[in-house]
Amino acid sequence: MSSCLVGIDIGGTKLAVVIANSDGRILNKIRQPTKSYKGFEYAIRLIFDMIDQLLHLEQLTRDQVLSIGISCGGPLDTQTGVVYSPPNLPDWEAIPLADIVESEFKIRPVIENDANAGALAEWRFGAGRGYNHVVFMTMSTGIGAGIVVDGRILHGASDCAGEVGHQVLIPNGPVCGCGNRGCLEAICSGPAIAKRAQEKVRKNPHTKILDLVDGNIAMIRSEEVLEAAKSADPLALDLIKEVSFYMGWGIANLVNIVNPDIVLVGTIAVAAGDLLLEPIRRTVLEMSMQRPGGIVKIMPAQLGQHIGDLAAISLVV
Ligand SMILES: [Zn+2]
Repeated sequence: MSSCLVGIDIGGTKLAVVIANSDGRILNKIRQPTKSYKGFEYAIRLIFDMIDQLLHLEQLTRDQVLSIGISCGGPLDTQTGVVYSPPNLPDWEAIPLADIVESEFKIRPVIENDANAGALAEWRFGAGRGYNHVVFMTMSTGIGAGIVVDGRILHGASDCAGEVGHQVLIPNGPVCGCGNRGCLEAICSGPAIAKRAQEKVRKNPHTKILDLVDGNIAMIRSEEVLEAAKSADPLALDLIKEVSFYMGWGIANLVNIVNPDIVLVGTIAVAAGDLLLEPIRRTVLEMSMQRPGGIVKIMPAQLGQHIGDLAAISLVV
């Protein structure tokens, strides 16, 4: 009887369930909106239904499920499997997720926060393959990281390692979601870039960014900044320069502390490519110590939209 792996990716907007064979090759997947306003009982029920649907489609039964991996927004406790109110799932306060899944499937799932699971996925299946020390940085709504050291996720004493977005780079700088000021995330996340672009465009409306939103400043996102920068718009290029400086500074700090082989940066860096990565590399080289800075590679993450599917599976493959 063949066995299979189940991966569950729980996000604020969508739930995804994948089924893979025991080598981690994905056989099938389903996505559904999370409808977080309906609460966690709804989401759990939906996830169980999605698993059963997939098993049915692949002509498998629950008995053939070997392991279950869950990737979910943190904070969460990987030992007890309890999820503590992730920002994108506000009513998931102290949900014993691993216990709930175990009581349904009689299998203790492996649970990990999405940045850590993403790092494992990039390490096993993406641009981190072949390296022992890999940092995977998310750069979208927030900035976080999963850190793989000697082939293992660095969890820290209370599963909080990797909060790289909350290193303070500008004392009394812009307010961050964590309550502090001047964190890397408050400067370089997508919403932070958008906010600063809007402020700059209000002062200087002679920019292509404004054309891209038909003159509606409130519609400016990081995507428009990137697009305008690609056509050499001076204001957009200024913003990219700022963002790459602070990202480079943040990464240089990490490079000195973790000494990774490679740092992979997600979403915004993937969309921007060398426009952002080249100045980041220069800053890292300038600001980090010579030995760790000299060997580290700074590259875009590779798995893109597939990362969620592979993240959960990479916990159990
Ligand atoms: Zn912060």
